[in-house]
Amino acid sequence: MILLEVRNLKVAFKSEKEEFIAIDDVSFSIDKRETVALIGESGSGKSITSLSMLGLLPRNGQVIGGHVFYEDKDLLLLDQKELQQIRGKKISMIFQDASISLNPSMKIGKQITEGLAYHRMMNREELKCEALRLLTKVGFHKPTEVFNQYPGQLSGGMKQRALIAMAISCNPQLIIADEPTTALDVTTQKQILDLMNDYKQTTGTSILFITHDFGLVAEYADRVIVMFGGKIVETADVFTLFKNPVHPYTKGLMNSIPKIEEPRDHLLTIRDAVSEEAAYEGRIFAPETFSADEKVYHSPSTLIEVEPGHHVRFFTESPEVSNI
Ligand code: ADP
Ligand code: MG
Repeated sequence: MILLEVRNLKVAFKSEKEEFIAIDDVSFSIDKRETVALIGESGSGKSITSLSMLGLLPRNGQVIGGHVFYEDKDLLLLDQKELQQIRGKKISMIFQDASISLNPSMKIGKQITEGLAYHRMMNREELKCEALRLLTKVGFHKPTEVFNQYPGQLSGGMKQRALIAMAISCNPQLIIADEPTTALDVTTQKQILDLMNDYKQTTGTSILFITHDFGLVAEYADRVIVMFGGKIVETADVFTLFKNPVHPYTKGLMNSIPKIEEPRDHLLTIRDAVSEEAAYEGRIFAPETFSADEKVYHSPSTLIEVEPGHHVRFFTESPEVSNI
């Protein structure tokens, strides 16, 4: 059953001189109890996709097309006040950088109870009790101590746990986790992702898991959306995608699963991934020419179903069938 559906999302950044299309023709849905991974290299449009869903775009960004359907509403048509009723309560977000998301001058306990106080009718005692319960749930052995600490007194992993406690405080239906563990060491990363996964298993919450790491996708996601240059280039359930990746960009990402001990100094580009001859059953992935900055395909392209539930973006000569 579908919980949320993004349809034909298009986002632009405007400056005085030009308009840059950051997201184009992005459509996907998230089912109840499902973990959907949004994967792509840095700058592919993952964060902007999720921020636009909740009305959190930077000031120079603007949604110029599309819909985000949730509970019979189009979130893109709601005003900030209506969105506030949904953000944090029904859909919550966990960002990569806990030090930005947490207020450094406010104790952890107060930050956790703020969301609860806003969305749920609780008195002070109940709020504290609930915050301690949440801190215990996310793995703190001394919740009272953490309750009274400031973010600066916690390690990176502990801060991320505190953020998860905040994110789950109102029993959300969807958690958007934007690279939630990228700043953490491998062991802590696994603990945090296991924690989120356990929470999902016991509550039935859906997760939109944003990452650039295919290794994590295999372990935690049900379905995968691969993004490049603001567009979806391939999407399928996790088993199908790993068994039969079609787009060269997907294959490139899979082959370049980052290893902590050998960081890459070079980000994969579409030119690395798509050679001019690359084709699949007679269809080509990209035209021979690329845009000057190589960020966006300027060519007409469209998603084609290559097997049930498995869609791949191909170049198309005919503008009429592009961007369906
Ligand atoms: P990802 O999360 O996949 O790393 P983003 O969604 O942050 O990528 O960015 C998508 C595109 O939008 C990039 O080309 C990026 O440069 C552009 N972008 C992001 N934020 C801004 C901004 N505030 N102003 C202008 N362009 C932006
Ligand atoms: Mg991002």
